[in-house]
Amino acid sequence: SEVFRVEGVTKVYRMGEVAVHALRGVDLCLYAGELVVLLGPSGSGKSTLLNILGGLDVPTAGRVLVEGRDLAAAGERELTAFRRHFVGFVFQLYNLIPSLTARENVAIVTEIARDPMAPEAALAMVGLGERLDHFPAQLSGGEQQRVAIARAVAKRPRVLLCDEPTGALDSRTGVTVLEALERINGELGTTTALITHNAGIAGMAHRVVDFRDGRIAGIRENAERCRAR
Ligand code: ADP
Ligand code: ADP
Repeated sequence: SEVFRVEGVTKVYRMGEVAVHALRGVDLCLYAGELVVLLGPSGSGKSTLLNILGGLDVPTAGRVLVEGRDLAAAGERELTAFRRHFVGFVFQLYNLIPSLTARENVAIVTEIARDPMAPEAALAMVGLGERLDHFPAQLSGGEQQRVAIARAVAKRPRVLLCDEPTGALDSRTGVTVLEALERINGELGTTTALITHNAGIAGMAHRVVDFRDGRIAGIRENAERCRAR
């Protein structure tokens, strides 16, 4: 089933006289349970689309349907609930609270969730079951990012939106982060959209969407992974 349907989405940023066309008529569906990699050069519109999917930004034209409902028709309260419960975000920077342990960083989110996982279970899922009481400064960059992923996942979002989660990590550390995302997608079935510059990551995806200059230049299906889905 369709979780997101993006129809003819255009995004123009106006800065005085200058208009930046970030998206130029994008059509895309995200299906329940799939892991989709958004690939493409810097400035090709990936983050803009992810932010629109997550309700952080609105299209200039076109529309986004969430499980069949037009996101633009949602009221402010509904939109807040959507951002809080339906989507989880993972960014390049982890934004952990330095004075809180890994467990506490996850717990602050589960306190406002409807049907959360225990923080310990979420951290175990990303391989940090032994680091519950560590503070961010005591963790490596890859571990900190996995805490951020546990925090995003613990509220059991339908969709995980990841904007270059490995962008600040070396490639070996990045792999541990990607493995965590793959495991979440496999075990919880969380629909996942993942932005990366790294074409090597494509093997873990069900589909790879190539962005060029605000457009989708191509979509490749990973036959191996799709069969297993
Ligand atoms: P990347 O995807 O390559 O990591 P970003 O998505 O952060 O980079 O930004 C891509 C481009 O968009 C950059 O040239 C950046 O300057 C520009 N950009 C991002 N956010 C803004 C913003 N809020 N205002 C103006 N330009 C922005
Ligand atoms: P990507 O994620 O592929 O790097 P972005 O979606 O960040 O691309 O950016 C697409 C284009 O939109 C770029 O030209 C970028 O500079 C521009 N852009 C992104 N965000 C803003 C913003 N808030 N204000 C102005 N321009 C922006």
